[in-house]
Amino acid sequence: MALVVQKFGGTSVANGERMREVADHVRRTRARGDDVVLVVSAMGKETDELLRLANEVSKTQPGREMDMLITAGERKAIALMCMALHDMGIPADSFTGSQAGFLTDTNHRNAKILQVRPDRVRATVDAGRVAVVAGAQGVSTSNDVTFLGRGGSDTTAVALAHGLGADACELYTDVSGVFTTDPRVCETARKIPRISFDELLEMTAVGCPKPVMRSVEVARAYGVPLHVRSAFTWEPGTWVVKEVPDMEKAIISAVVPDTSQAKVTITGVPDKPGIAAELFRALADANVNVDMIVQNVSDHGVTDISFTVPREHLVAATTITSDMAAHIGAQKVATDDSIGRVSVVGAGMASNPGVAATMFETLSNTGVNIEMISTSAIRISCVIAEVDVDRATVALHDAFELGQG
Ligand code: ADP
Ligand code: ASP
Ligand code: MG
Repeated sequence: MALVVQKFGGTSVANGERMREVADHVRRTRARGDDVVLVVSAMGKETDELLRLANEVSKTQPGREMDMLITAGERKAIALMCMALHDMGIPADSFTGSQAGFLTDTNHRNAKILQVRPDRVRATVDAGRVAVVAGAQGVSTSNDVTFLGRGGSDTTAVALAHGLGADACELYTDVSGVFTTDPRVCETARKIPRISFDELLEMTAVGCPKPVMRSVEVARAYGVPLHVRSAFTWEPGTWVVKEVPDMEKAIISAVVPDTSQAKVTITGVPDKPGIAAELFRALADANVNVDMIVQNVSDHGVTDISFTVPREHLVAATTITSDMAAHIGAQKVATDDSIGRVSVVGAGMASNPGVAATMFETLSNTGVNIEMISTSAIRISCVIAEVDVDRATVALHDAFELGQG
């Protein structure tokens, strides 16, 4: 008999009928002899709707109240889920993040889990009942309700699976697994049967939305067996494992499109020690998440620095960089929020030359201009124009022969 944590995303519990289908799936899992702990997201697009309401009411949006508001979506979903289970004769109890033992820091809207003490969840399972836990929430060290950030239910599920020593963590969503690229962008995208934590982490770091990056970090750190799969077809999905056997190892596993970033360029920067340190310290202190950084070779004692940030950090990044430009005697700050990025990820590239060349040739043959390049041992990313992202993604997916058949 195994203990399985099953997490259902918004679309998977979008209405009463979906909830009953999930309840039936739980019934079948239990009939097989396994214990189930459920983690659910808010129904459908409810989180977006709550955020829209907040925008209607408030400009200041205090963090404590925002988290009280957002977490209401998941709270509603767990109660309804339990009712659906009861109607099928399955004993179940709902738990908020706080009741399930999720202690977090005080960083509202994006709180980090400090500790999981799932005593009540464990007792519920031991009593032969299903625990239904609200995703993406906890209680802070100051006793306030906190939200773990967008997509945080994935993290709840993985952390809970670790805390309970579960045999597997299943993330059910509206696609049948992790794909070779976003199936909405490229119709020949294919489900990857097995992928390594390292590759999936790289994919999520450069824009793959599923599963959320932090959940993959937790799963990798604690070796939680992850299975990403469909709540609609129930077919086997993608297993995320420590290492994919050599026979199955692809040079390139996936192409990842991303249109969530913006670019900041500061020109005429004096080329002397300490300047980059000062600029990026100021950005870090303001919690601006800097991703790619490129500094040009200096010419006549001045250089240019470009970097990318999430679009929602662009206003803060521009203010800080402009202040800094005046302070360090740089010439000008320019921003561009219509950039995109396309990345190829694959554990095999470390030992196979030519991946970068193929990527650049493909972009060039597609008429796509490269603005910035960054690499890791198993990833190459190019910043390109936002309008070119879909075209570039399809061309790269083709060039690396990732499609079906
Ligand atoms: P959930 O709400 O179930 O947590 P999300 O809606 O956040 O799930 O994420 C699932 C979506 O991620 C899919 O519908 C799919 O379009 C998108 N997606 C983008 N890239 C990929 C990829 N490489 N593999 C799988 N899904 C992807
Ligand atoms: N409901 C939240 C969101 O939409 C959390 C989650 O689904 O993981 O981001
Ligand atoms: Mg989601």
